[in-house]
Amino acid sequence: MNINTLLKKRNFDKNDIVNLLSVHTEADTDALLKAAYRIKLKYVGNKVYYRGLIEFSNICRKNCYYCGIRSGNSFVSRYNMPNHEIYKCAKFAYDNNYGSIVLQAGERNDKRFIEKVTTLIKGIKKLGKGKLGITLSVGEQTEETLRKFFNSGAHRYLLRIETSNPCLYKRLHPADHVYEIRKKCLQTLSKIGYQVGTGIMVGLPFQTIENIANDLLFFREIDADMFGLGPYIEHKNTPIIKYKNQLWNKNHRFNLTLKIIAVLRIMMKDVNIAATTALQALDIYGREQGLLAGANVIMPNLTPIKYRNSYLLYEGKPCLDEGAEECQHCLEQRIKAIGEKPGYNEWGDSPHFAAKHRYYKKQPD
Ligand code: SAM
Ligand code: SF4
Repeated sequence: MNINTLLKKRNFDKNDIVNLLSVHTEADTDALLKAAYRIKLKYVGNKVYYRGLIEFSNICRKNCYYCGIRSGNSFVSRYNMPNHEIYKCAKFAYDNNYGSIVLQAGERNDKRFIEKVTTLIKGIKKLGKGKLGITLSVGEQTEETLRKFFNSGAHRYLLRIETSNPCLYKRLHPADHVYEIRKKCLQTLSKIGYQVGTGIMVGLPFQTIENIANDLLFFREIDADMFGLGPYIEHKNTPIIKYKNQLWNKNHRFNLTLKIIAVLRIMMKDVNIAATTALQALDIYGREQGLLAGANVIMPNLTPIKYRNSYLLYEGKPCLDEGAEECQHCLEQRIKAIGEKPGYNEWGDSPHFAAKHRYYKKQPD
């Protein structure tokens, strides 16, 4: 089927998605990305919402085979930022009119960790006078813990499914990392009332275009509100590095990620989609290209420079020696250069979530 006919379809089936992700001529790719950008402008506008990312600890009880900070990597020097440093990062976000921050860390389920996150949520709410939105990205937690975080003031949660194919999931994780538990956790988050974010890595060993088409159908089925998807990038101290010769090349992973963002935007129209750091790792203008393919959120890194080398999920992670201050001005210029504008002082909640619930319970005036 011709690309323009395909793009006019109301609902894509798996075959349509595979065909769209497989377009390769410049003209067809351009048609796909431009169609997605038009839909983005219509449904979410040209504002780019900031989520200041604070990678507050690299201590993780898990051992995902792709991740540079997995527990089994003994070359990593472990850190757990003291609360006062985390507040300083949040204060930077507040002072620079970022609407929201993301608290991200390795996964821990012990009492001390849960208390720390709860204290941080309450402290950040207070220092931002209730105006800083808080997204969490701290892995799988029990319903009780997730409720505790929500009741303390967090209102969004990112938990990538990584791949919606249970067999592929099994190949990329140890036996005690259970796909069904991760999926259930996404459902629990939604039940509690969080805006739920999920996503995948693109170009994992053994992953196929059909797998990715199913991931997109999975996103629609679970009806998530926000998405973060980026290319998988190798890390030498991980078990799956042994498959490095079987991977799609980085250019292909990058271009495919843009196409996935575009197809997702066309399919789910009013969701929030992040232009991720991993895109920027493969191309210095990767985030801008993500925005032009349909993304509307960026996550500037606020983690203090002294910790960045210890939060290397993959090799070649960008901005290891550029602090939040240096990035701030350049970021605004780069956003404006592509005809978009920063959504300062706004939470930039997912309109998809609002449409589902028809209220903004915690939105400040
Ligand atoms: N521990 C939490 C979790 O796993 O949900 C949050 C932090 S974890 C580092 C955030 C994301 O990093 C993961 O969901 C995964 O998709 C991504 N990631 C890990 N290793 C990666 C790699 N080698 N390349 C690209 N992304 C990676
Ligand atoms: Fe831990 Fe998250 Fe890395 Fe898995 S992806 S090892 S849970 S930090």
